[in-house]
Amino acid sequence: MAKIAINIATGSLQKEEIIVGIDLGTTNSLIAVIHPETKQPIVLKEHNAHALVPSVIYFDENGQVEVGETAKAFLETHPERTVFSAKRLMGKSYNDIKKNESFFSYKIIDDNTDSLVKVQLGNQFYSPVELSSLILKELKKRAEHILKTPVNKAVITVPAYFNDAQRQATRDAGKLAGLDVLRIINEPTAASLAYGLGIQKKTNDSELIAVYDFGGGTFDISILRITDGIFEVLSTNGDTYLGGDDFDNVIIQHWCQQLGFSLEQLHTNKNFTQTLRIKAETAKKYLSTADLFEDMIDGRPLVLSKGEFEELIATLVSRTLDCCAMAIKDAGIKKSEIDSIIMVGGTTRVPFLKQAVSDFFGKMVNDKVNPDEVVALGAAIQADILAGNNKDVLLLDVTPLSLGIETAGGLMDVLIPRNTKIPSSASRQYTTQMDGQASMRISVFQGERDLVIDNRKLAEFNLTNIPGMPAGMAKVDIRFLINADGILMVSAKELRSGVSQQIEVKPQYGLTDEAVEKMLLDSITHAQDDIAIRALTEARTEGEQLLKTTEKFLQKNLTLLTQEELLQSAAAMQALQLAITMENKDLIHQKTEELNNISRPYAERIMDEAIGRAMSGKKI
Ligand code: ADP
Ligand code: MG
Repeated sequence: MAKIAINIATGSLQKEEIIVGIDLGTTNSLIAVIHPETKQPIVLKEHNAHALVPSVIYFDENGQVEVGETAKAFLETHPERTVFSAKRLMGKSYNDIKKNESFFSYKIIDDNTDSLVKVQLGNQFYSPVELSSLILKELKKRAEHILKTPVNKAVITVPAYFNDAQRQATRDAGKLAGLDVLRIINEPTAASLAYGLGIQKKTNDSELIAVYDFGGGTFDISILRITDGIFEVLSTNGDTYLGGDDFDNVIIQHWCQQLGFSLEQLHTNKNFTQTLRIKAETAKKYLSTADLFEDMIDGRPLVLSKGEFEELIATLVSRTLDCCAMAIKDAGIKKSEIDSIIMVGGTTRVPFLKQAVSDFFGKMVNDKVNPDEVVALGAAIQADILAGNNKDVLLLDVTPLSLGIETAGGLMDVLIPRNTKIPSSASRQYTTQMDGQASMRISVFQGERDLVIDNRKLAEFNLTNIPGMPAGMAKVDIRFLINADGILMVSAKELRSGVSQQIEVKPQYGLTDEAVEKMLLDSITHAQDDIAIRALTEARTEGEQLLKTTEKFLQKNLTLLTQEELLQSAAAMQALQLAITMENKDLIHQKTEELNNISRPYAERIMDEAIGRAMSGKKI
């Protein structure tokens, strides 16, 4: 249903309801739209105010909530009631974060280690989804105030390494904030869009882009390949506990040394620490454009030169370059093949860092677009495309890992291969393994390995009430549907009886970035073994199946066979059984073939339709 709205601020007609782009950041969040007149993306800000909203939430004694700049002030004075970095908890279980628990000054519940984390503030409990929704609500409120029109639809960005659970959690947070989240897109994809990359239709060549994103608490490097508007994430790397805050910390340590303060003294004087932290961040930002920072604290001078600052951060910067080198290696490309390097995140304003990154890649970096705003601006461009206002582009994302189900012998049967453009769907028919089998367990896996135990289980469900029929008779259609956000829907239907079942795959908790990376790397390093195991498993399954059906056939048709046929069959079956026990793939194939050759003539003679079907189709 099309709606016509009038923008009271500009007086212009809006044919479609506005769709905003949101960068829900670990440190700062912000919201952007396409300007109705200029058609350019702009970030939304109140007069004289900053567009950045610190991703900080303060809960006062009465349960009142403050978000943003005002909440940030409580970080040092009321740490137990001030939540920062909620994004780090999205889609995570306590087990996932326990080694970093000391990072969080607020209480994270640890009673059930495998379920999703909750945060305790006083006697209230909040899920990361609820916490993120509070930030989104604040952004929505601000946007509505500025645009003077209701804001109900959004595109939200997430890091490229976010898995399904984390993407789903982000989408749920939007829903909870009253937003219809039309699309979840990758932050590096959004940044590339803001630079106009991938927007030109039909360019025959593909472009390789490195997105270097250094924020407040995290560092991410992503290597993307863009071909005809299709963004493919080739690799991601980074450090989820390295950011601009660490620059502030090295400055604080430096000053403490200068002033003769111990770090323990800092812990006991919160107000002093708060002041020092603010001054450290101010100095850092100031030195991006000046050579010397000078100030006072408690009547004593506080000085930092650009040279000193650069010395302090040098090792932190080189750590990010190590990550870049690994990302390039994982992407399977050469550094020199990269066409552009895009700088994202407030920390990339530091000239020394920009230079170090340029030197590393051997190419000038792209930094024309404001690094704080670039992700939100890109999200707004994507929103505009979704609104149908930009018909020249086709924007597609691809699946990062293959999706499939477990079949006989614990093999991974891929329905949607890695790097498939989404949205996408695929279906395949399977059949039952046993006579009278009334239910079929469907286990959904993600990963590149041939055996499901090496992949990651996303979900499992039972298709029940299958009416009794001989093995191989049931026809179960399994369908995977993956929507534009990368969320998977799996359905199963037994075609003869019509019984069906479907689930939305919402994995319980997340994979770490290292885990995703490891899964991809493992699939490469174990490729040889995997192929061998798969070949053996397939041969064995086929052989076992033939033994089973032959035995059944013999029992049923004993009187119709000659003595000769029975003896020959028994010998061939024994030989096949032996080959299976020996786990010799080629021998299994050979003996399967031999048994087939013996049984085929008489089987054809007394062909039973049911058995004919039993030999085709994969079994679960
Ligand atoms: P996130 O993506 O994690 O939400 P941002 O991209 O907003 O984070 O980056 C915030 C970080 O950028 C903070 O550590 C802030 O101090 C730093 N920053 C902002 N401006 C500058 C500047 N001019 N020089 C150096 N660091 C800066
Ligand atoms: Mg960011």
